[in-house]
Amino acid sequence: PEINLARWLEDTAARHPDRAATVYFGARLSYAQLRQHVRALAGALASLGVGRGDRVAIILPNVPQAVIAYYAVLWLGGVVVMTNPLYTPRELLHQLRDADLRVVVALDLLLPRLAQVASDAGIRHVIVTSVADFLPAPLRLLYPLRQAAQARRERRRRGGAHSSGPPPAVRLPEGVTRHDFRSLLHHPPADGPAPVRAREDVALLQYTGGTTGTSKGVVLTHFNLAANCTQIEAWLYKLRGQPTTVLAALPFFHVYGLTTVLNFAVMSGATMVLMPRFEAREAVKLLQRYRPQLFPGVPTMYVAINALPDVERYRLDSLEACISGAAPLPVTVQETFERLTGGRLIEGYGLTEASPVTHSNPIWGRRKAGSIGLPWPDTEARVVDPASGEPLPPGEVGELAVRGPQVMKGYWRRPEETAAVLKDGWLLTGDLARMDEDGYFYIVDRKKDLIIAGGFNIYPREVEDVLYEHPAVKEAAVVGVEDPYRGETVRAYVVLKEGQTATPDQLEAFCRERLAAYKVPRQYVFIDELPKTLVGKVLRRALRESAGSEAQ
Ligand code: ATP
Repeated sequence: PEINLARWLEDTAARHPDRAATVYFGARLSYAQLRQHVRALAGALASLGVGRGDRVAIILPNVPQAVIAYYAVLWLGGVVVMTNPLYTPRELLHQLRDADLRVVVALDLLLPRLAQVASDAGIRHVIVTSVADFLPAPLRLLYPLRQAAQARRERRRRGGAHSSGPPPAVRLPEGVTRHDFRSLLHHPPADGPAPVRAREDVALLQYTGGTTGTSKGVVLTHFNLAANCTQIEAWLYKLRGQPTTVLAALPFFHVYGLTTVLNFAVMSGATMVLMPRFEAREAVKLLQRYRPQLFPGVPTMYVAINALPDVERYRLDSLEACISGAAPLPVTVQETFERLTGGRLIEGYGLTEASPVTHSNPIWGRRKAGSIGLPWPDTEARVVDPASGEPLPPGEVGELAVRGPQVMKGYWRRPEETAAVLKDGWLLTGDLARMDEDGYFYIVDRKKDLIIAGGFNIYPREVEDVLYEHPAVKEAAVVGVEDPYRGETVRAYVVLKEGQTATPDQLEAFCRERLAAYKVPRQYVFIDELPKTLVGKVLRRALRESAGSEAQ
């Protein structure tokens, strides 16, 4: 059969028209209704000039409109640019201009930010929707009142006690037309889905997290994204039935949620329980009420659920499989979550450039603590010498390289950057890793964060792990800073727990007992908070930059 993500929706809607595609605060949208909305919005988009290969940005949290807009663009053979709604105007401008697009689907709350950048980004049409649009009727009617009350509270907090009334209406710059999402759902429907050439035609232009550098557009084809879904199925569900319900806690604007929740649910005809924002209490309520079998997430989500004081009160035993990715999963977190739910929580690994998943521990087979597991079906992986590119034997640390159907076509309009990471189909991940004798992989650290001091390699994560063991330390990040003698020297940024104290000498003594001398940080900087990306990864780059500017 043709590999075409929009065709998957068409097939599922034909097979299970009455099944819920999404549940959103209790409101169900069936697969038949979803398909109908998709065709109408696709018709509207076509009338705005969107066609094959054209990019459309979707700047929404997990609301039904995000699912509708995603498939409407794919329906026309267009390219979706999933964009984080928390972006600042500067980040929005970089991404929208780089993607070179005219049409944006966005949340009304974003209009002030969009208005600032729309002209410079070349935007012509903004399709606006509200988080209330798909709420069930009573909640929808109450929403403006709630919002007004919230705005009043906000203004009072900021001290503007006299300025009551609705916030000023946002005006988009001249030449930019505003459209109402709900009205467009009455547009005459488009035929389709448009046929695609799966290996060439781009489905998604997904910008990387920007943890280590400027955010780049990753070009993913229908084939790439479809492959990663089929791999999930092969890896997780060979032995059991497919899931019927999935908790959509991961945002769709990151490829991790897009693949493991959205594409996978539509492929399997499952219901997505939408969470526009993750909140642990809400998550356990939804787990109890809708009883999903699958809940892909990031470690902080499982940490937050485990930490709910009365979590044992909830019935969470519907869960069969949870994949945790994006950051290391501490073993204690895994054990507690599995005890609470009776389901399996496995650590996996991936990156935007690979749609994203390339590794995970087996769900039913042998798992290893601290390991990202085995390469997924059809995925090759090896550890190579960063200098020569030659494969290294088991046990040695080098750069992780992967090859498989989920690996991107390249970076959008950046041939040099593409050539630097893609060679003969092998993707250099930028992560340092090792493989054990059984073929299990372990992430050691990011290549760009490696510190070389006096000729020795120092992995920040190893040093941070030691600092985290100190009872007064809440968070720690370790970076290399310039040093006239050693090239680089190790500096630790430390956030102390509330009410706790520690001196640099005490921390240094603590590290000396646990680390070889060359790894022990020589400098300690106490700060209130570590800089993080929007998905919660520590920005060691920002710390290095601030250290660099201090030195000048
Ligand atoms: P950028 O590539 O722009 O710097 P980013 O690294 O945040 O941003 P993503 O593609 O979102 O971009 O994240 C992929 C990275 O996340 C991997 O390269 C790896 O460093 C990290 N990662 C993913 N899973 C794990 C895991 N299980 N353990 C440790 N690190 C992980």
